Amino acid sequence: MRLKAIKITSRDGETFFKCPRCGRVFRYSKDYTKHVNRAHSHLFKK
Ligand SMILES: [Zn+2]
Repeated sequence: MRLKAIKITSRDGETFFKCPRCGRVFRYSKDYTKHVNRAHSHLFKK
């Protein structure tokens, strides 16, 4: 399950992924995905 990340591009041209639920920012999309699964997985439970 996925929560769509807000993509942020820094001045250096690096892309970060921001969680729309809690505002945390992650360097890598897989870290973001892990965070969503851990912190917000209850949102996806039926
Ligand atoms: Zn979050």
